Amino acid sequence: MADQQQLEQLFQEYGYRDFRWVDPREVVIAQWVRTKCTFGCGNYGRNATCPPNVPSVAEVRQLFSEYTTAAIFHFRQQVADPEDRHAWTRGVNQGLVKLERGLFLEGYYKAFLLCCDSCFLCGDDCTGDRKTCKVPRQARPSPESMAIDVFATVRKLGFPIEVLTGYSQAMNRYAILLVE
Ligand code: SF4
Repeated sequence: MADQQQLEQLFQEYGYRDFRWVDPREVVIAQWVRTKCTFGCGNYGRNATCPPNVPSVAEVRQLFSEYTTAAIFHFRQQVADPEDRHAWTRGVNQGLVKLERGLFLEGYYKAFLLCCDSCFLCGDDCTGDRKTCKVPRQARPSPESMAIDVFATVRKLGFPIEVLTGYSQAMNRYAILLVE
């Protein structure tokens, strides 16, 4: 069982203060999210952390049912050049993977991270396949690629999120850490 007080202290030691706890059963998992990944997203089949390289929607539901605790981390950023947005999330996600590893080493052996964006560790040179991923120990899926309705989930918690109409607008991105 998660010791939330100890975890909050660890989150702060790693520099994370903008987070909220959520019951994993309250995370909204939906088939429509997977459908929009499959039809309409340019990352489909091109990023090794995106569909079809991820568990089925039913498997994601099973995964979340195996945890009693999750934390949602909020990140807000505005970039001058749209091309900078992946460099920003790459840095954020590298930090979060270190946090996941730190929790594991503290005894939270089930800790599993859903990053705040598709993996861009290799920039635009992703292999598009789990079997040939160049940094498999660090690559993690995003909530969206795991069929999570991020809008519905974070709004339940009072976090901000809106549909953006341009890359110059401030982004509110979210990562989910399953832990107990
Ligand atoms: S580590 Fe590289 S190859 Fe693996 S998912 Fe990330 S970008 Fe793709």
